[in-house]
Amino acid sequence: MRGTTPERSTSDTRSGHGPDEEAQVIVVGAGPAGSAAAFHLARAGVDVLLLEKSQFPREKVCGDGLTPRAVHQLIRMGVDINAPGWTRSRGMRWIAGKHRVHIDWPALGQHPDFGLSRSRHDFDDILARHAAAAGARLRTGVKVTGPLTDRTGRITGVAATAEAKEPLTFRAPIVIAADGASARLALAMGLQRDPVRQIATAARRYYHSPERSAEEYLELWADLTFPGSDRFLPGYGWIFPMGDGRVNVGLGALPHRRHGTADLRAALDEWLARTPQSWGLREENAQGPVRSAALPMGFNRHPLYTRGLLLVGDSGGMISPWNGEGIGQAMEAGEVAAESATLALAMPRGPRRERVLRGYPVEMNRRWGRYYRLGNTAADLVFSRSGFQPVLNRYVMGSPFLLNTMARLLTNLTDKPSRDLIDHLLNGAVRLVPEPKARHRRR
Ligand SMILES: Cc1cc2nc3c(=O)[nH]c(=O)nc-3n(C[C@H](O)[C@H](O)[C@H](O)COP(=O)(O)OP(=O)(O)OC[C@H]3O[C@@H](n4cnc5c(N)ncnc54)[C@H](O)[C@@H]3O)c2cc1C
Repeated sequence: MRGTTPERSTSDTRSGHGPDEEAQVIVVGAGPAGSAAAFHLARAGVDVLLLEKSQFPREKVCGDGLTPRAVHQLIRMGVDINAPGWTRSRGMRWIAGKHRVHIDWPALGQHPDFGLSRSRHDFDDILARHAAAAGARLRTGVKVTGPLTDRTGRITGVAATAEAKEPLTFRAPIVIAADGASARLALAMGLQRDPVRQIATAARRYYHSPERSAEEYLELWADLTFPGSDRFLPGYGWIFPMGDGRVNVGLGALPHRRHGTADLRAALDEWLARTPQSWGLREENAQGPVRSAALPMGFNRHPLYTRGLLLVGDSGGMISPWNGEGIGQAMEAGEVAAESATLALAMPRGPRRERVLRGYPVEMNRRWGRYYRLGNTAADLVFSRSGFQPVLNRYVMGSPFLLNTMARLLTNLTDKPSRDLIDHLLNGAVRLVPEPKARHRRR
């Protein structure tokens, strides 16, 4: 498809921008969602422009931890995860009160049995370059300022500024919003966040800690408390090994409205003060400041498609409400959006193409709708009120079967069709949840 003439809109609502650049698909944002979408589009022969406001490599506030689902997406993209710089994990270590348990990643038929960690400083750079190597036209230092639309309100491209602030326009009949939690493009197209859904926040910091940096397990603490109190913080803390002498340490919280907000920095300080001195998680070993950001979870923005615009990753609120993980979800949604856009471009402009694009939210809903609905309910009823501590009680922590079931529920790791008892239990429970309606907006 590359090299064919993209369709042009004749009646854009904006003017006064520089010369147009055209493509078949524009992807806004080169985080995991955008780079994955651009990669899969380019591999399918679609002429795709990937616009990113930063220059790589750049920092991104994250825990840098990848579960087997996320690793699976990297493998699907052919990223060389055996190259230096990737740190493998065998599983998770959960700590709650006196309990401390190791849970290896399960040996499933549909996912790898290891996780990874890699700083987003490198990770996003690798992914963006991977998309460019597959044929995506990557433009960094280009900040998208808003959508271009035709008289019917359908997106026809985006307006942007380059680093020298000169105005630019980019045109394409399909645009993918992968601009992260700010979701500016979605908002400009009228897609608001669901006000009912609470937003979690998370903070992280790197520490020089040779003792913990080569660990084989991603460590999760479920017994963090509100600062100056013995009330459990609704969330968890993590210590993820980076394999280069550093660890990524952070905590995420989803306090219920009745708790008010939580001071994450103070909670982090109190928690780390109770870790052994030899781990080195002290101010003098900190590298850089504590940084925090929002976690848009559980499909908190809909519809995921409207008038030529598809939302992927954090812009569509796709972080898992079960565990706060969003990198693998962003990459998987990027692949699904790319498939929809590629198929849509093979159709003539009009109702047939529209029907294909409307299939994108339907497919995302089929994959995660029920699982996220159950997770949103669990977050509302349990995690946001009392955190993970009541769930990880002594019965669960003392039973390998219950532990593995809980771990696989939280990380969405099952085979389908079911192959073992845990698959049967979890897939069966999710099937019982009524499927939420995939919404799309008609004009
Ligand atoms: C503290 C913290 C810890 C986390 N830990 C984990 C973890 O360990 N594992 C995990 O799986 N998930 C984790 N997450 C969630 C994860 O970081 C996100 O879900 C993931 O980054 C989403 O990817 P994305 O591509 O949708 O968005 P982003 O990664 O935010 O990428 C968006 C991109 O768009 C660009 N952009 C934004 N606006 C514009 C614009 N106007 N024009 C052009 N470009 C633009 C940005 O520069 C950025 O490159 C964590 C989140 C936080 C806050």
